[in-house]
Amino acid sequence: MYGKGLLKGLWITFKHSFEKKDLVVRYPEQMPHLQERFRGSLAFDFEKCIACGICIRNCPNNVLSMETAKDEDSKKKKLMQYTIDLQYCMFCNLCVEDCPTNSLYFTHDFELSQFHRDDIKRVYHRPPELDQQEAAQKTSDQDTQTAADDKKEKQLRAMINAINKNPQKVLARVLDGEEQVEVLAAVLMADEKKLARMAEMMITDKEKAKKVALAFVKKELKEREKGGDQ
Ligand code: SF4
Ligand code: SF4
Repeated sequence: MYGKGLLKGLWITFKHSFEKKDLVVRYPEQMPHLQERFRGSLAFDFEKCIACGICIRNCPNNVLSMETAKDEDSKKKKLMQYTIDLQYCMFCNLCVEDCPTNSLYFTHDFELSQFHRDDIKRVYHRPPELDQQEAAQKTSDQDTQTAADDKKEKQLRAMINAINKNPQKVLARVLDGEEQVEVLAAVLMADEKKLARMAEMMITDKEKAKKVALAFVKKELKEREKGGDQ
């Protein structure tokens, strides 16, 4: 029927005219309801950023920039300043999607207009407490490493002592035959380096220790054979 579409449209308008629901939001007195994934202002978490530069390379509008410096102790790059020039941002979300540490995210803040252009820029400076936190973390890591090294050293000394004290019993853990164990004991007693290496492998990798022990024995037996022939 001619005019059917027009009548349908008028009917919808008529229906909504009597609805009680308030469709108009009286902004700015009343703030609109924003959806969870609404992209307002781009924001940055300084502590999470690893200064990889992926976001800067991927931004199509050159919105992002950063300043870095070389850390004297670790010789690694550290972030000093990160800038978001929001006036050029088109809220495409590429930087947020590509950031490996989730340092970038959108907030619901959409009131971004400023009187001066420069005020639209978001400049994040390195927080002084970040260096303190990193220094504390480094000291703690060093302490943990020292404790682990001490423990390893103690275990190694204990294993060497045990082999020295009772080679037949201890070396039986990596070789089966009594004769093989005796040959291995002779090899290790004659060479401190081999002894330390075998002790370390017996602590860290028993399967490897078994293979190396067998190799030591075979080599020694071959040499003995050669010596016997001459
Ligand atoms: S949202 Fe898009 S335009 Fe805006 S900073 Fe990220 S990549 Fe650039
Ligand atoms: S991609 Fe993420 S971690 Fe890398 S520089 Fe950008 S904000 Fe920092």
